[in-house]
Amino acid sequence: MQPNVLPDIRGEYRLNFAINTQSFFKVGGNCDVMFIPADIDDLLQFLKKKPKDLKITVLGNMSNVLISDYGIQGCVIRLNTLNKVNFYNDYVDVQAGTLLPKFISDCAKHNVSCCEKLCCIPGTIGGAIFMNAGIPGFEISDVLVSVSCVNFSGEQKIFNKEELNMTYRNGNIQKDSIITSVRLKIRSKDTKQIIDEINELQAKRLKSQPVGQATCGSTFKNPDGAKAWELIKRAGCDKLSVGDAIVSEKHCNFLINTGNAKASDFVKLIDMIKARVFEKTGYDLQEEIKRIGDKW
Ligand SMILES: Cc1cc2nc3c(=O)[nH]c(=O)nc-3n(C[C@H](O)[C@H](O)[C@H](O)COP(=O)(O)OP(=O)(O)OC[C@H]3O[C@@H](n4cnc5c(N)ncnc54)[C@H](O)[C@@H]3O)c2cc1C
Repeated sequence: MQPNVLPDIRGEYRLNFAINTQSFFKVGGNCDVMFIPADIDDLLQFLKKKPKDLKITVLGNMSNVLISDYGIQGCVIRLNTLNKVNFYNDYVDVQAGTLLPKFISDCAKHNVSCCEKLCCIPGTIGGAIFMNAGIPGFEISDVLVSVSCVNFSGEQKIFNKEELNMTYRNGNIQKDSIITSVRLKIRSKDTKQIIDEINELQAKRLKSQPVGQATCGSTFKNPDGAKAWELIKRAGCDKLSVGDAIVSEKHCNFLINTGNAKASDFVKLIDMIKARVFEKTGYDLQEEIKRIGDKW
């Protein structure tokens, strides 16, 4: 792709950007160009003026994506700079690039309860809605009012929660939609109480999950009536590895890049786990992480 086909913008273009420097799995080839808009208007202008055949991929904080070793053709859009939060009486408007932990700490400062149960999820609000992120007993859709989106042609639309039919780890967002901001329900709650809850959840995570490692969290969704990690353990996959891609000792539904793993190593490991779990338990595990990019 020639850079001169790209429209003038106020934000930033990063040409031939090395995705593995920022993806949580630390894998992925380069993308032709990454666009970080200065604000929503900059994003809208870009979408209206870009070449019609320019392939667009939207990424959040890359905490739930396996990016191909061959990279991503076309333009990756990241909304890091869209991170405004506006509180009202019983709802809050949050821009899609806002990081969940930062948003939750803002809520605590404002004596506001919203989605503090998701304090350990290292994604953006946009990524959390796309994935309908959650923990057992709570999903972001539980506090959702509406989602503002723009499609790849620059047309804006607001979807009420009821229109989306969000399900377990699926926000049901259309393929050519970019989530730009989200309206969430809030209620008042004492700051100290929220902080105590956050501390408790963080302590629980430290005990049960690998923290500070190159991972994307749970690899597989829990099938109806079963837990993915239990099936993985039962199938004897809890010590598997392919190159530097290994199954975490602490939580066997988490995969970790211990050094120089490639996306292809993770794919082999995932396929191996799926095959063994199916053979031993009859469950056909579905991936929670999203494969993004070219030539899988
Ligand atoms: C240590 C760790 C713990 C985790 N724990 C949990 C957990 O408890 N529960 C849970 O649900 N998840 C968990 N995750 C997974 C992950 O953090 C969540 O899925 C998170 O919501 C992903 O957000 P992101 O911004 O990183 O999205 P990305 O990984 O960048 O993208 C995920 C998907 O969302 C799409 N997307 C992102 N932003 C937008 C946007 N603005 N518009 C349209 N599409 C978009 C992408 O195209 C992609 O398909 C964990 C991950 C890690 C690393």
